[in-house]
Amino acid sequence: MFDIQNIRSQFPILSQKINGKDLVYLDNAATSQKPLLVLDCWMKYYTEINANVHRGIHTLSQLATEEMELSRRKIQKFINAKHDFEVIFTKGTTEGLNLIAYSLTNLIKKDDEIIISYLEHHSNIVPWQMLCQRTGAKLKVIPMDENGVLQIDFLDKNLSEKTKIVSVNQVSNALGIVNPIDEIISKTRANSNALIVIDGAQSVPHMKIDVQKMDCDFFVFSGHKMYAPMGTGILYGKEEILRKIQPFHGGGEMIASCSFEKTTYADLPFKFEAGTPNVGGNISLGAAIDFMENIGHENIQNHENALLDYAQKKLLEIDGLRIYGEKAKRTGVVSFNLEGIGIASDVGMILDKLGIAVRTGHHCTQPIMDFFDIAGTVRASFAVYNTFEEVDILVEGVKKAQKMLS
Ligand code: PMP
Repeated sequence: MFDIQNIRSQFPILSQKINGKDLVYLDNAATSQKPLLVLDCWMKYYTEINANVHRGIHTLSQLATEEMELSRRKIQKFINAKHDFEVIFTKGTTEGLNLIAYSLTNLIKKDDEIIISYLEHHSNIVPWQMLCQRTGAKLKVIPMDENGVLQIDFLDKNLSEKTKIVSVNQVSNALGIVNPIDEIISKTRANSNALIVIDGAQSVPHMKIDVQKMDCDFFVFSGHKMYAPMGTGILYGKEEILRKIQPFHGGGEMIASCSFEKTTYADLPFKFEAGTPNVGGNISLGAAIDFMENIGHENIQNHENALLDYAQKKLLEIDGLRIYGEKAKRTGVVSFNLEGIGIASDVGMILDKLGIAVRTGHHCTQPIMDFFDIAGTVRASFAVYNTFEEVDILVEGVKKAQKMLS
């Protein structure tokens, strides 16, 4: 049974006061809070088994290695990767995307094309621009309409043998829009040999992921948005491609042999994991998966979608409030502005005084803000521990901010 009070009791941070008010934490798209299961796992790692992995003969090192590899297999199952060595530990989505863009450099030539979408986070724009600068490839962008819906007909005219990479997010962080990645992937497969990269930073916390069914070549996400510690993340890549591409970082752990004349690289996944990893974090990411699976994906999704529907309905009762992407399929996020109040951060500051944490600004998606000709939005984003009462508090807070600012 879905027991919200039981879930909330696992997040000590939620039961504190901010500015004298009960904390209402609605900035989950930036980072989620961490449950006791994850905090205890982290603490246990550092109090009982901290040691460097894959190096020592001693017991602690072996224990730390076993635990981290166990976590890798848990993540493999969580996203349904075919092999555990297709799961690479990173420090987050940004690092994963940079790794892919760098490691593909040798396979990209002048006048090749890379397609992204209008709805991308800067971290799924800039690494591709940098790749274009290194290689002379061209960046193309799938447009969107006024509702924030991607115009994927664009792919019919623009996919060709020149297209080498298509990289899109599954869910937009700024607007919460769920992109039609199944159609994007099938169009891409039918009309090109492009590699498909999916940014799952905002989908993994909310929906069940199956990378084999999805048939992407790469899938990246961050641990800290799905109840795991900061500095954790995953890059999934298909074996065949991971074997073909060059490593991103050079150093310890990623070599098979090293001399001044010649270095050979370690097998997967270590070829992409240079240096000492975030062992405690990577193990705790496994605990975050346990936390989510104990509740169940369907329960998480149903609760969060109900919160979103309720928030949308209540917010739209406020005169002059506009929700961006209102009519599109969305999850986890409601992004809005109040008519006549040009600065979203003014609303955010008033909400903060009321104990309500939201994010305001461009959300690292300046092209989306430019499209709507705005500087930013107020974004409330949900996690499994949020309640309908918290939505009511948000709505009352927004009304108060409107009164104070107009
Ligand atoms: N892509 C999307 C869709 C995101 O929401 C974020 C985080 N806001 C990122 C990429 C970057 O993630 P991180 O900062 O954890 O590397």
